[in-house]
Amino acid sequence: MSLVLDGNLVRDQILRDLAPRVAALAASSRPPGLAVVLVGDDPGSQIYVRNKVKACAELGIASETFRPPASISTDELLAIIEGLNRRPDIDGILVQLPLPPQVDTRRVLLAVAPQKDVDGFHPMNVGNLVAGRPGPRPCTPAGIMELLKQYEIPVAGKRAVVVGRSDIVGKPMALLLLHAHATVTICHSRTVDLPAVCREGEILVAAMGRPAMLTADYIRPGAVVIDVGMNRITDLAEAARIGRVATLERRGSVLVGDVDPLAMQEKASAYTPVPGGVGPLTIAMLMANTVSAAEAA
Ligand code: NAP
Repeated sequence: MSLVLDGNLVRDQILRDLAPRVAALAASSRPPGLAVVLVGDDPGSQIYVRNKVKACAELGIASETFRPPASISTDELLAIIEGLNRRPDIDGILVQLPLPPQVDTRRVLLAVAPQKDVDGFHPMNVGNLVAGRPGPRPCTPAGIMELLKQYEIPVAGKRAVVVGRSDIVGKPMALLLLHAHATVTICHSRTVDLPAVCREGEILVAAMGRPAMLTADYIRPGAVVIDVGMNRITDLAEAARIGRVATLERRGSVLVGDVDPLAMQEKASAYTPVPGGVGPLTIAMLMANTVSAAEAA
């Protein structure tokens, strides 16, 4: 029997631990403040932002959402960010990605004051992460480290394999595992014989955005498997391959990770389900980064 690593439980614990810190800030000066910048009306981004704003309200963090139109220029968006950098009641600034194609995303992320960069995407905070210095860490990988900690899964000395090398998930995940003394391999689309490399992983993190791509052949027996992927499928044959036909017929689509769920159940000693694994942790860590920024202000 493999252990299901419950992201909802860990999220609730993270939020419970944050509540007294938020109360202490509110009592001594003011509640933490988070500014969320949502450009345009991408439906996926709107849902993410709604969930972040809701989490703030539940925890007592003051949030303010800015909704510039999709036609905004880089300079106009930079002016909004600079205004937020100057505001003393704003501790964290989150720019919801992706930005429209005419906007220079790198310039925008660089403009966020590093001490208000609650996503941990500013190059200075990337440098802090590489050097193992304090600073906000990207929320998804930070949440995964918290999950491993709360389930007391040993990391030091383990062989960890991270599939995916994005700036948001793969790279920071590999660095956090390295700082926790795992021996880390990073894989990507050019990795040769990916199944064999993945099978070396006592901890396997999948973050490719490829529905249920990692089958049983990629999983070392007894591995801890962390599935970061969030993919929506509508294909009946694909749903049948992973045993989710009933969900597809009921809802018209199925949310699947990057790992075949049947393979995880069969071969892993512990794994994160999709949904209910990594997903809930990301927003909890955004709240944690905002509270830490407010405490440091
Ligand atoms: P991304 O920026 O598209 O990066 C995907 C990475 O996977 C790239 O490094 C790519 O390699 C690699 N890759 C793609 N196909 C591959 C293949 N066939 N074999 C090996 N490597 C392959 O994606 P991301 O932003 O990191 O997100 C990854 C997944 O996590 C997505 O499903 C996303 O929705 C999900 N996600 C979930 C959360 C959450 O809160 N649960 C948060 C963030 C992301 P190359 O570099 O060689 O192209």
